[in-house]
Amino acid sequence: MKHVKAEIITIGDEILYGHILDTNSQWMCQTLGDLGVKVNYRSTIGDNEEHILKAFDEARRRSDLVFITGGLGPTEDDLTKPCLAKFFDSEMELNEKALEEVTQFFKSRGRELNELNHGQAVLPVKCEMLSNKVGTAPGMLFHENDKVFISLPGVPLEMKYIIENEAIPRIKELFHMPVILHRTIKTIGIGESFLAPKIQDWANNLPDHISLAYLPSLGMVKLRLTAVGPTLESLKTEVNDQIEKLLPLAGKYIFGFDSDTIEEALGKILKERGLTLSAAESCTGGYFSHRITSVPGSSSYFHGGLISYDNSVKVKKLGVPADVIEKYGAVSEEVVKYMAENIRKELSTDIGVSVSGVAGPEGGTDEKPVGTVWICFADGEKTIAKKLSLGFRSRSVNIELSALAVMNLIRLQLGPEY
Ligand code: ATP
Ligand code: MG
Repeated sequence: MKHVKAEIITIGDEILYGHILDTNSQWMCQTLGDLGVKVNYRSTIGDNEEHILKAFDEARRRSDLVFITGGLGPTEDDLTKPCLAKFFDSEMELNEKALEEVTQFFKSRGRELNELNHGQAVLPVKCEMLSNKVGTAPGMLFHENDKVFISLPGVPLEMKYIIENEAIPRIKELFHMPVILHRTIKTIGIGESFLAPKIQDWANNLPDHISLAYLPSLGMVKLRLTAVGPTLESLKTEVNDQIEKLLPLAGKYIFGFDSDTIEEALGKILKERGLTLSAAESCTGGYFSHRITSVPGSSSYFHGGLISYDNSVKVKKLGVPADVIEKYGAVSEEVVKYMAENIRKELSTDIGVSVSGVAGPEGGTDEKPVGTVWICFADGEKTIAKKLSLGFRSRSVNIELSALAVMNLIRLQLGPEY
């Protein structure tokens, strides 16, 4: 199925100077992508007539649908409207509907229209006006020789309003849109280069209209399936069938789908099994407990924890024998086992977990370099400790990865959902 070729041009010196971040393009790419409109090109142009006209000309050659944001205001530096009039060889005229809307906008705020605002309602004759109920500059749509140009204000709120309420309905009328379904499968505890060979045959056998993207992020890899087809129902069935085939290959690593987070997924398992949890943290400084308690309803399974950052706290409050710390060091299998078993007993929970490591940048030794972290799970029957060798990217990365590893250790000990 042929995709509509779209592109985005953002206009404004402020963006080129780095004074503002071009969030408009990011939002539009995502919104249009979900609609089935593929953005192939993005560019930013300064407030310069010659450059703007050149950008319009190039865009018309390579794309079917061109979105422009910025430079629609009433001031001298706003060049987009005169440039569009010139580009489409169009006279300018007062647009009655636009005048009515801008007058109404000011009236509802108890203000009279001044001359500059009046100018907002003067539009190129060849455009169709797109209403802007949240601002004063209307959007414009030009349709000539199968090419569509849509010009929008730079202010994100106004741009979004016009895209959602005015532009999308027209795009659907003007172009034949396929149905698109995105599903994200979320994995943890395996890097993409190790995951890829495990699922290679499955990936190679996906039908042409279902594509796969690997989206790695810290400690996780998301697999995004994008299916294009005639009806949503048939796509849902097909994608679910493909996920069923993936489960035997990668089920151990899959903790959820779409917007699921690992802490939510873990919370769900604990809740379903009626199990309670406590934590003794050292190098994560409470970050693990923070993540767990960021889930609404976590009080039903998380009882609490202790930040035993200094060795004296490990000894006094968690009953880790001082000679064990002396002999093996605070970052050791022996110490995390005491920490997990004792927090579990102390707080009377089904499960106790612990973490102790060298987050960095300082504190590493030859034997225990920065990024060495021990984590542990204890449930009264078994005590499972695991060593992580995270290296050093930053302190916060090591804290994040350690907390994720503890969550994943619990998940794996309880038996993954999928
Ligand atoms: P105005 O009527 O406010 O002048 P405009 O259409 O002329 O609107 P600009 O002057 O280009 O738009 O931008 C107005 C404001 O909108 C900028 O100061 C900035 O805060 C925001 N903005 C503009 N372009 C972008 C963009 N690409 N991404 C995010 N914000 C933007
Ligand atoms: Mg402006």
